[in-house]
Amino acid sequence: MLQLPYRGLELSADFQGNLTAAIERFNGFARRGVDDDFARGTTAVQLQFNGAVGPNPYPNATMHPISAEGPFYAALLTGGTLDTKGGPKATPDGRILDDTDTPIPGLFGVGNCVASASAGSYWAGGATLGPIIALAHRAARAAHQESAHDRRGTAPASA
Ligand SMILES: Cc1cc2nc3c(=O)[nH]c(=O)nc-3n(C[C@H](O)[C@H](O)[C@H](O)COP(=O)(O)OP(=O)(O)OC[C@H]3O[C@@H](n4cnc5c(N)ncnc54)[C@H](O)[C@@H]3O)c2cc1C
Repeated sequence: MLQLPYRGLELSADFQGNLTAAIERFNGFARRGVDDDFARGTTAVQLQFNGAVGPNPYPNATMHPISAEGPFYAALLTGGTLDTKGGPKATPDGRILDDTDTPIPGLFGVGNCVASASAGSYWAGGATLGPIIALAHRAARAAHQESAHDRRGTAPASA
């Protein structure tokens, strides 16, 4: 029997049948060790994030059949954004490059607003915050050293 903790939330009429079928399908994958839907456990980073878990007699360390005995708890999984991978190119000093790869005076950027050194991939946990901390330090130093006439693109005023 499915019980909902919140008023106003309703499950679709076919939810329970779909859930049963989904669990049976998942359990089959877990027993075989091959996930035909999401390829769990096929990359090194999945195994690393999975970590060491309790005894698992099944061949894929990231999967175990779901027990037939409840109680079961559920959470809604929805979309979210961890970081971004687009934006303008920047030098290691945070100088933003124009379309000819020339630094634009006075324009600096680090973090999610610029292109990532890891391009379209996510190296591992900390791969966004770690570089941001290091590169922000470098960018702040470079911006501090850039004089006002550099930023305006004008010659220094004569003393
Ligand atoms: C759930 C979750 C878990 C994460 N876990 C990790 C992790 O374990 N390790 C890791 O390295 N990274 C992790 N990240 C990613 C990391 O948090 C981000 O990549 C990082 O915070 C991005 O820093 P940022 O300064 O570039 O951007 P943000 O932290 O997004 O900062 C941008 C700031 O600009 C402000 N802003 C936006 N628009 C304007 C505007 N028009 N005017 C003024 N201010 C504005 C925003 O309010 C915000 O404060 C995680 C992210 C999430 C969401």
